Amino acid sequence: MPISRRNFLRTAAAGTAAVATLPLLSEAHLAMAQRRTPRKADPAGSVRIDANENPLGPCAAACTSISGLIPEGGRYDSDLTGKLAEIFAAQEGLKPEYVSVYAGSSEPLHYSVLAFTSASRAYVTGDPGYEAGMLAAALNGAEVKKVPLTPTHAHDAKAMLAAAPMGGVFYICNPNNPTGTTTPREQIEYALANKPAGSILLIDEAYIHFSDAASAIDLVKADKDVIVLRTFSKLYGMAGIRCGLAIGRPDLLAKIAYYGMNPMPIMAVAAATASLRDPGIIAQRKAINAQIRTQTFEWLTANNYKFIPSESNCFMIDTGRPGHAVMSAMASENVYIGRVWPIMPTSVRITVGTAGDMAQFQTAFKKVMSAPAVAFTGPMPGQNRSRMLS
Ligand code: PLP
Repeated sequence: MPISRRNFLRTAAAGTAAVATLPLLSEAHLAMAQRRTPRKADPAGSVRIDANENPLGPCAAACTSISGLIPEGGRYDSDLTGKLAEIFAAQEGLKPEYVSVYAGSSEPLHYSVLAFTSASRAYVTGDPGYEAGMLAAALNGAEVKKVPLTPTHAHDAKAMLAAAPMGGVFYICNPNNPTGTTTPREQIEYALANKPAGSILLIDEAYIHFSDAASAIDLVKADKDVIVLRTFSKLYGMAGIRCGLAIGRPDLLAKIAYYGMNPMPIMAVAAATASLRDPGIIAQRKAINAQIRTQTFEWLTANNYKFIPSESNCFMIDTGRPGHAVMSAMASENVYIGRVWPIMPTSVRITVGTAGDMAQFQTAFKKVMSAPAVAFTGPMPGQNRSRMLS
């Protein structure tokens, strides 16, 4: 059954048992669940900064490669997928068998959690953190341990290990969704050195290109119990095209492949390949994102709004009032901002959009925050009613 906003909310609202009937979930579903008005019905000119998408979309070379491949759409063409893995592996100094290609990183995230957690091996994550893995763990009958981030909003490796001495998956999102903050290498190394046997570190690098954080791919190269996730949905602007990678030792990748290996959409593979071959795209887009983010932070500071400085394409603002009410008031101004996490109920997540998006955001945010706070009267977002996510 396709997941519409209405049936997602109905199912999530029914609690743990019902969520167990849900398939793999991604940011798209989680953002939709807290949306007051379906975005497709939005009036023209709306600002969409609620799902960590990249408004720049795919690069020019990716667009050209997609259109050139349309006549080949009748073929599965697994060779193209193999070549993508080879190109990525060569760029990173890995053997190609250390790279598996998926239609986005949501799939390997979900499958890694299914493969390495169980009723006796918990899933351990930072809080606030990206929820997709928590839902997969609950589906698998595993305990979910949410460990608050440190005061600098990094993952607290020591506390994560203490929370589940027999954990199965220690999930570190670097930079983190939703805070956009990075976790220093020492924390990752501590977790690796002290984690229980048979467990993995699942390092989600969906946003790494926006930041200066060091990748953990070298730990994969060193044959450690580490799976790194990458996606083309963020810096490369391909969320709607779907391509992602799991990078790990072949025996670890085989364990997650057990849960599914669909033939890849060939246009996604071609666009990802063209993106990897674009020599300037990472530096250009990182600079664009940083420039707009810095300008936004300067404006927030000048206006005395509280935010967490981020190194990514999203950041949290503490509004000092119920976050859902602010989301709702912003939607009335035609600016769709991101989600609220239970541990930070007065904060909202904002995605860095275009300069024009952020100018509209500033006007709307000032208006909303200058008006007296009103109680949230919209439909209760499904996320708050789900036991896993509270
Ligand atoms: N990991 C994180 C931290 C994310 O925020 C997202 C999406 O927003 C994903 C993974 C999955 O992205 P996709 O399936 O589009 O690659």
